Parts: sequence; structure tokens; C-alpha cells
Amino acid sequence: MSFTVHGIGVSDGIAIGPAQLAAEGQLEVAHYSVPPSRVAEEVVRLEGALAAVRRELQDLKAHIPAHAPAELEAFLDVHMMILADATLSERTAELIRSQQCNAEWALKQQADALMAQFDRIGDSYMRERKADVRQVVERVLKSLLGHGNGIPVPPSPEQGNILVAHDLSPADVVQFKQHPYASFVTDVGSATSHTAILARSLNIPCIMALHHARQLIREGDMLIVDGDQGVVIVNPDSPVLAEYRLRRREWELGRQKLKRLRTTAATTLDGTPVELHANIELPEDVAQAQENGATGIGLFRTEFLFLKRGDLPDEQEQFEAYRKVVMAMDGLPITIRTLDLGADKQLGGITASGTNPALGLRAIRLCLAEPKLFIVQLRALLRASAYGTLRILIPMLSTAAEIRQTHQLIEEAKRSLEADGIAFDRDTEIGGMIEIPAAALTLKTFLRELDFLSIGTNDLIQYTLAIDRTDDSVAHLYDPLHPAVLQLLARVIRTANQAKISVSICGEVAGDVALTRLLLGLGLRVFSMHPAQLLEVKQRILQSSVPAAESVTKRILRTEDPQRISSLLAKLNV
Ligand code: PEP
Ligand code: MG
Repeated sequence: MSFTVHGIGVSDGIAIGPAQLAAEGQLEVAHYSVPPSRVAEEVVRLEGALAAVRRELQDLKAHIPAHAPAELEAFLDVHMMILADATLSERTAELIRSQQCNAEWALKQQADALMAQFDRIGDSYMRERKADVRQVVERVLKSLLGHGNGIPVPPSPEQGNILVAHDLSPADVVQFKQHPYASFVTDVGSATSHTAILARSLNIPCIMALHHARQLIREGDMLIVDGDQGVVIVNPDSPVLAEYRLRRREWELGRQKLKRLRTTAATTLDGTPVELHANIELPEDVAQAQENGATGIGLFRTEFLFLKRGDLPDEQEQFEAYRKVVMAMDGLPITIRTLDLGADKQLGGITASGTNPALGLRAIRLCLAEPKLFIVQLRALLRASAYGTLRILIPMLSTAAEIRQTHQLIEEAKRSLEADGIAFDRDTEIGGMIEIPAAALTLKTFLRELDFLSIGTNDLIQYTLAIDRTDDSVAHLYDPLHPAVLQLLARVIRTANQAKISVSICGEVAGDVALTRLLLGLGLRVFSMHPAQLLEVKQRILQSSVPAAESVTKRILRTEDPQRISSLLAKLNV
């Protein structure tokens, strides 16, 4: 039976393919079958993950801090016992063999069965052990996923599977960069969550906030995902399928045509030059930035190097990642943001989710609270600065004191590199993200301490309007055109331009063609966005005139009436 499910389209395009369901509950894993020839390999992978977790637990036990609660050792012993128990290890291996499925799925099935048994036990002590089983299973799953092979891979990439999940974390999605899902859809989430941002960077259609899709859709159902309209058509009939195949072809042709603009300079009709930079999450993304003609990297979200793995990348690993980007971009400016962990990017053992993680120990706050972690990154960044034009960007600044503390740590990192005789660029520019209203309102202090600014509109809007950017129940209120947001943007761009300090926008509004002329009218000349959006924005710039944009923008800034703002914007975009 054909039916449709509606949500929020967060990444454009059309995908057609069979549904692949992620497991329900907290532990999101995909289910795929493994050919008989690879079953033994899958069992070995499970054994490898079990062994890695055993080592991890042994290591933890060997390094119990002096002030740790006395129960910690007993707790680790219980976890080791659970891990060693045949009901977890052997039974999971048997499931892999009998069901010819991936290790994650088998483990999840076995864990669910075990936890259901615990629920039936009358003894409250035993019932509490259920949480321990879950934690152990989570560790093993992380290990499986962190080692790459366990990433939910569609069995036949050419079929263009569509992943249907209740929820996916940014860390889940970043793994898809290597694995060709044609699309993914989720029950929760909203357009500026990091999960949605990643979907756009993958250039695949994506819909969120579908609410019940995970329950309604069955494994293997044929799906059409229409990212523009935010609709999933389940088991479409032939005429609908034919119509969408045609639309998908047209969409692809449109994208191919845009490729012709790759080397064209982004200059407006009146001759104003504009820089179009790319946002990336991993060094491999540089290829896409280059394919789309980016003239620099405006935002490298380095925290993605830290997600989905059991350990932290050390200085050498980070240095190599940063250098790779710097060298690949061959002299073009590279802006690398220091760790923005916390909120929707959690890292076990480092971040605390807190009661309100978006307002908690996130980004620079976390780095200043964990200077050892931060210094490792700063040294790696400075080392990479010797290989090209690298700029360091500090996220989530709210006070000048944070900038000063950061400068002190940067100086410390420089002194230690000098002591080690390691080369770096002494004049590496340090910039700050303006994404908290307090920073936007006290900008002069920031201008004195920083070499450049980058406006993070995703958070600036979230914090100005008090809208959780990951919560779909308030997504309709998340509005870049809110007069308060426009006033803040106008103020930051104007003040930076007057002070002759470079200012860019690296939030999602920079990649939204409906806002390109408005941003030009506000005086923005450097845009940073996901590579997939870059050529469309360039096309719009080529068709725009700055004086015309400025005159309508002035009128937009004079009104607080939302309807008037949208009609003026429509006028600007004709
Ligand atoms: C922003 O907040 O606009 C931004 C670019 O940073 P992130 O989306 O990673 O929080
Ligand atoms: Mg941000």
C-alpha cells in the first residue's frame, strides 16, 4: 500500500531506493546481511571488538584515580564478567552465523533478549544489572563502529539504500561519508542540527522530524525521498515513480550545469568580488571543496576527528590531518576551528551532557576547562601552520577573558614548540566565532583581541531566539529573518567592516540562496558553506547587484514586521 509521511526537508534532492531500518532504541545500528563467504570475517570482527573492550576495561582498572569511589573497581569487574559471559559473546557469534547478518545487529538482538530476561527477574539487584549489560554492549558497539568495518553499510551500494532511523547523531552520520546511502530520514531532528548540516555536506536528500517513519516503514519498502518538499512516499505506484525518476534526472542535470561555474570568479554584476569558502568536517572533504571551486576553507569543524572512536587523536595524528588540508588547498586560506565539543556532539569521558548541554560546558569553555586537551590541539595546529595559510578560529566566545586565556594557552603552545625546535608560523591569525548575542553586542572588545571574525548563525539564531536548534517541536520558530537576528548580523558586519577586520558567515544561512542578496546588502563579502551549496550561491552572486541589494536591505532593517520583511526579501530575489 502506498502512503506518504511528512517532515522537515533539511537537504534538497530526490532519492529513490529500498528502505534500510536502523535498530530502534538508544543503540542505533543498521541491519544488513552478510554473504556466506564473509560470515567468518564478521565473527572475527566481533571477537576483535570484544577483545578491544576487554583491554579498555583492564586499562581503566589499572589506572583508577586515587580519589575515585571505592565501588569503581567492583563495577569494572562486573563489566568484565558480562563481557566474558558466553551468553553475550558466543550467542552473538551464533546469531551472526545463523542469520548471516552484521555483528552490530546480532549484538543488538542478543542484548535486547538479555535485557528482556532481566526485566522478568524479581530480584531488584539483578534488575539493576540490566544497565550494566547495556553499558557493556554500548562499548562493544562503539568499538565495532569506531573501527570502521561496522559502519552500517548498505549491502549493495548501487541499490541506493535509504536509511530510516528514529534518530542519528552527528557522529553516526559522519561515518556515511565513506558509505553511499542515497538518503537518510529520521523521526526527530531539525534543519540546523549538526546531523542535518552533515546531510547537506553529503549532498544527499534528507528529511527529519517524520515522527513515526521508523515504525511505519518496513525493511525493503520502496521509498521516494523528496528533500525539497519534506515528504517520503512509501511504496509509490508506477506513475508516481516514473514522475519522480524524471524529476531526479532534471535535478541532476541542473547540478551538472552548475559545475561549469567552478573556475568563474564570484563577482557581482557591479564588479564586487566575493570569496566563497567551504565548510568541512574531515580532511577528505577538501576534494569536494575543490570540485566546487572553493577559494579557501572557512570552517574546519575539527571535533569530527574526535567522534566515533575509542581514543583521542594525539598531536601527531591531528597535525597530519590539519597539514593534509593546508597542503591540499595549496596556499589558499584555511580556517580551522578549535574543538567545539558538547551540546549535540558528545564525547564519552570528556563532555558532560549537563541539564542543558547547549548552554553548558561546550566548545571554548570545555577547552579552557581541559587545558591539556586544548594544548595538544594548539600545538598540532601551530605545527601545521608552517605549511601554508592556516588561521585558528575559536568557537562560542562570550567574554574577552576567554580570548585572553586562549591567547595565553596559544603562547604556551608556541613556547613549547620553540623549546622543541619545531617550526610554526609566528603570525598565525587567531579569529573568533560570533555566535552568542553577548559577543555580537560587545563586539568592540572582541575586535581589539582578534584578527578576524566568523559569524556562526546556527548558534547565533539559537541563542538569540532561545530555540534549541536540535528540537523539531520548535523548529518552526527558528527564523534567520527575525528582526533581532537581522539587527545583530547588520551590526557585526558593519562594525567589522568599519574596523577593517575580515568577517565571514559560516553558519547555514551562508549557503541559502534565498538569503545571498540580503547578506550582500548587509556588507558581507566572505561566505563559507558546505561545498555542495557553493556553486548555486555563486550563480546567484553573478546575477546580483550590490547597490540594488543594499537599498532593499536598508528597508528590511527598518521594519520589524515579519510580513513586510518577507515581501521585501521576495522583491530582492526577483
Ligand atoms: C554556527 O553555529 O553557525 C556554526 C557554523 O557552528 P556549528 O554549526 O558547528 O555550531
Ligand atoms: Mg556554532
